[in-house]
Amino acid sequence: MSLITKAPRGTLDKLPNEIHKYQTVETSARQIAEVYGFKEIRTPVFEHTELFKRSVGDTTDIVQKEMYTFDDKKGRSLTLKPEGTAGAARSAIENGLFNDALPLKLYYFTNCYRYEAPQSGRYREFSQFGVEVFGADKPACDVQLLALASDLFKKLGISKYTLEINSIGCPECRKTYQDALKKYYSQFKQTLCGDCHERLERNPMRLLDCKNPNCSEYKTAAPLILEYNCETCADYFNNVKQYLTALEISYIVNPKIVRGLDYYTNTVFEFISPTGLVFGGGGRYNGLIEELGGNPMTGAGFALGIERVISVMEGENAQFNEPNTPDIYIAGLGEEAMLFALQLSHKLCKNGVSAQTDLTGRSVKAQMRYADKIGAKFSMVIGDNELQTGKAMLKNMITKEAEEIDINNFDYKR
Ligand code: AMP
Repeated sequence: MSLITKAPRGTLDKLPNEIHKYQTVETSARQIAEVYGFKEIRTPVFEHTELFKRSVGDTTDIVQKEMYTFDDKKGRSLTLKPEGTAGAARSAIENGLFNDALPLKLYYFTNCYRYEAPQSGRYREFSQFGVEVFGADKPACDVQLLALASDLFKKLGISKYTLEINSIGCPECRKTYQDALKKYYSQFKQTLCGDCHERLERNPMRLLDCKNPNCSEYKTAAPLILEYNCETCADYFNNVKQYLTALEISYIVNPKIVRGLDYYTNTVFEFISPTGLVFGGGGRYNGLIEELGGNPMTGAGFALGIERVISVMEGENAQFNEPNTPDIYIAGLGEEAMLFALQLSHKLCKNGVSAQTDLTGRSVKAQMRYADKIGAKFSMVIGDNELQTGKAMLKNMITKEAEEIDINNFDYKR
């Protein structure tokens, strides 16, 4: 097949016959985010490359290997968003959103781009729903985020998932932990891959993300960050756990979650399906805003991969909103009747009724075949006779029952 008619590797066309699945997730996510007091933010799909180096971290796999980075015509280095938090944080700083009422609660839908090896559930372009809270540093904030997620999953019919949580502490305890990791991994220095050599020097925590089979074996016996949490961080984490229990949100502690982005502090979490698919994750990131040049401002959030949420729903046979089908098809026979049909469908559409009519000059038989194919719920045929009498038969396309209606005062009731 020619390149022109083939989508780039790792991308996914979201076709009309499955778009209702995406709309189901998006509608529910939007509804629940708004109920929890979040406001939508839309930021550019590309940002200055430096933003991601500073926020995601320049020793992470995302920054080192997975970004779609290019120079624009003026030689500025730009990158397609690999995730949503950095753009929202950058925009909040730039637009003074922290001067408004705090905490600031934002949500977004965005496409993300990562140059990863495509496989089932892993794409190079994928879409995320994300929420971020800035200026709230109490465990209640982390727990409210998880409550929002739990409500959303319930609404979407996702029940068989696991919430795994961990605490990766503050920069102070992280330092001690990084030292412990460095000491541990140094024993294997000879056998570590080239990337891990660099990680060992620059950011030992990222050693835990290595996908090289040899290096990842060492992860099993590596020191656990939870054991290095200082007293304040341990108290914080205990509160998170207590509050989760108080809100009847089930979780398990997985001390191995470290997340692949540098900006996290304290609570981190992931949502995992019964087949082991991680379909969402997030946590607290208290240092991010300062790292980006803003005044100190705490933050926490999570993102869900929408394609993965859909596949988890499918795995649970969850219900999607019905695909949109036309309410009525108005067939016309003859020029005058066709114009009438066009006018009537216009009148109905203006009132929010999906009324379709012929745009091709097809025979009535072909029009009715089309009405059937597009799943119209009702149909009627207008010809000279109907125009003269002002009456037509409204036919239910499923039961095939028909009733006579007044075409000049027709008011479709759903
Ligand atoms: P992360 O920032 O890597 O934790 O990503 C958040 C969520 O985005 C993940 O839990 C996935 O659901 C989704 N995600 C991340 N990378 C991909 C990808 N390459 N393809 C599809 N979904 C992804």
